[in-house]
Amino acid sequence: MSYTAELIAVGTELLLGNIANTDAQMLSQGLSALGINVYYHTVVGDNPQRLRDAVEIARKRADILITTGGLGPTCDDLTKQTLAQVFGLPLVFDEASAGYIREYFARLHPGRPMTENNLQQAMLPKGCTIFRNDWGTAPGCAFEAEGVRVIMLPGPPRECRAMFQHRVLPYLRELGDGTIVSRTLKLFGIGESAMEDKLRDRMNAMTNPTLAPYAKEGECELRITAKAPTQAEAEALIAPVEADLRGLFGDLIYGADVPDMETVVLRLMRERGLTLGCAESCTGGLIAKRFTDLPGASAVFRGGVVSYASEVKRDVLGVPQALLDQYGAVSPQVARAMAQGARRALGSDLAVATTGVAGPDPDDRGNPVGLVYVALAGEDACHVREVHLGQGREMVRRRAALHAMDLLRRQLTGCPL
Ligand code: ATP
Ligand code: MG
Repeated sequence: MSYTAELIAVGTELLLGNIANTDAQMLSQGLSALGINVYYHTVVGDNPQRLRDAVEIARKRADILITTGGLGPTCDDLTKQTLAQVFGLPLVFDEASAGYIREYFARLHPGRPMTENNLQQAMLPKGCTIFRNDWGTAPGCAFEAEGVRVIMLPGPPRECRAMFQHRVLPYLRELGDGTIVSRTLKLFGIGESAMEDKLRDRMNAMTNPTLAPYAKEGECELRITAKAPTQAEAEALIAPVEADLRGLFGDLIYGADVPDMETVVLRLMRERGLTLGCAESCTGGLIAKRFTDLPGASAVFRGGVVSYASEVKRDVLGVPQALLDQYGAVSPQVARAMAQGARRALGSDLAVATTGVAGPDPDDRGNPVGLVYVALAGEDACHVREVHLGQGREMVRRRAALHAMDLLRRQLTGCPL
């Protein structure tokens, strides 16, 4: 059977817009990956009556109800009391949880006495499954009442994430008869609507595995989710679907179950013992940032030049003044010279370069916003790609960085550039 879930985030600061409901985002991603359908997100303030109302609605329409926040020791932390009351369970003191809370407090604040209200966190609904919190003080818990599984998690995102990974996932896996496995293919170079168009018939015909497309700025994802008695059987259901999708999309697929393109590029470069440099104009260091965000980047990434001004392109990268005068900074000729110059200046095997118009205004030669040239220089050849990335300064910059990584990934895997 397939379960439906509803998330209730408790916290007035969420309603005021002081913080975003990132716990819900994280939980929804995790639940979807398990094949659990999340149908509603509710946000409610630290108000017991409104929380009761929200729970009364949710319990009628969800199999799994997950709350976040309000488990702490302060007087506005009312989630456990309220849910226990709605489901008619008394709260009982759990000595083991109290022990963990004391220990955690002593570790965090050596020498400082713990206030008594901290022990309120050890009051838990009678008969519940207790989720020990190794990342904070408030334990989480789960219980079943009248066919609804209720799960309560602490609000701080770091705790909520760890509790979900290490406590809730094993708990939910036990609920299901069988196991759910998913595989996510990542695509670059195709738009969401074009991808869906190719997939529509397949998607409608599929029940197990299921196929879910997602679009992210310039990138697309396809998640295949299969349910079967064992992991191996689920994987066997996924394999032919993956092969079919790989046949359909070919080298637009840059990876499976990988976080992003830079991770793929970094791994390929490491395997081949190659080094990378970059020269960035419109991306302003974004390519360098994205690579250096990755642990282990130093084995590959030599450095980058943010060559924003024409004089820097000329004096640091050696772009000939004649090219800049004749074609302008936003031109394939200059992109090429930047990449070659970066390769020379930084002593790397490969170098990428970006030059373009991020906006909001066209450049002084009338080049439109969103026009970007991305170049890749290697030992014997240099390739330039012209792209039109739409409006929106941030989006143009991010997509330009993706194109630079796509050139690298294609070069390294022998795909057409
Ligand atoms: P604590 O023990 O820290 O009090 P708690 O479980 O009682 O934890 P809250 O008091 O509701 O949680 O929230 C603590 C902090 O966690 C909030 O100030 C906020 O920064 C963050 N937080 C709470 N809920 C969310 C949420 N849904 N998404 C993102 N952050 C959240
Ligand atoms: Mg709190």
